[in-house]
Amino acid sequence: MKKIKLNSGYDMPIVGLGTWLSESNQVYNIVKQALEMGYRHIDCAAVYGNEKEVGKALKESITDGIVKREEVFITSKLWNTEHKKEDVLPALEQSLNDLEVEYLDLYLMHWPVAIKKNSNFPLSAQDFISLEEIPLNETYEAMEGLVKNNLCRSIGVSNFSLKKLKELQSNCEISPAVNQVELHPYLSQNNLLNYCKEQNIVLTCYSPLGSSGRPDQMKAENEPRIMDDLAIKSLAQKYNKSEAQIILNWSISRGTIVIPKTVTPSRAEQNLKSQDFTMETEDYKKVDELDRHYRFVTGEFFTPEGCVYTISNLWDE
Ligand code: NAP
Repeated sequence: MKKIKLNSGYDMPIVGLGTWLSESNQVYNIVKQALEMGYRHIDCAAVYGNEKEVGKALKESITDGIVKREEVFITSKLWNTEHKKEDVLPALEQSLNDLEVEYLDLYLMHWPVAIKKNSNFPLSAQDFISLEEIPLNETYEAMEGLVKNNLCRSIGVSNFSLKKLKELQSNCEISPAVNQVELHPYLSQNNLLNYCKEQNIVLTCYSPLGSSGRPDQMKAENEPRIMDDLAIKSLAQKYNKSEAQIILNWSISRGTIVIPKTVTPSRAEQNLKSQDFTMETEDYKKVDELDRHYRFVTGEFFTPEGCVYTISNLWDE
């Protein structure tokens, strides 16, 4: 398994298993199978509601001698309701408890959005707390405390624009190791990627295959499907690989980490093997040309009418 060295000094495997929307029983099975087939990186989050099942699968795999704890890279994420500084440690402790581990490899601030506790989806404007009230740096400072107390090895952010990332960096002690953002051929994030490379911050690509398994109510009408793109299909044929493998291989070639979600063992295997081949330079360029700045995860659920958060101030674009 290829790895990228983080600015914290720890290595992060370049292919991880995503777990958003993986049902509890399915996630237990796929985590066990994934570890057996060689996965060493699992992407989790408290809000996915399935960390206990991930933890059970991980613990059993360790007990059965399939992996050692220190060989597996476990990421979790601080949910938006826990941004107050006094809420950060208890939130992490809950994830540690559910995942049955003593430390996390990476803890990310899930969104640059703060929400009041006990808010229910769909959210309304009064459920939100502005960033003036709880600044992102205040939340991040509490996350720095987790590193100092050896509860997680690296910290970072998710869904941070270039602007928010720079603001955070200008006032923090421990540089974020990772920014996890949506990234695929239709949203190639060139500016953010160039900046992060300069700053030695790794980008993790979420929804790297276009998140086609999301519920319909989260999808736009006539949503494009990257895996149906003719350019991707033709490369899949040329290299005798699946469309998913072409897409993931392109992301890996750019020095980013991919966390495709699947509950299907044959797909997990395919996705893991996407790191094992190289395409010709001109073929990577063909994928580069597909960028259309298209977001599958728009963030609309955080921007109800009258809310302090808007699509424009969420993405700073
Ligand atoms: P994704 O990985 O782009 O796509 C997942 C969908 O693709 C599932 O329907 C899966 O089906 C299918 N699939 C996976 N491998 C395949 C293959 N080789 N061939 C054909 N189909 C394949 O979408 P995602 O779940 O949105 O993103 C991945 C992970 O990123 C998440 O699980 C989560 O861990 C993370 N994420 C983070 C954020 C954030 O805010 N930080 C947001 C979104 C996602 P089956 O499962 O049915 O096989």
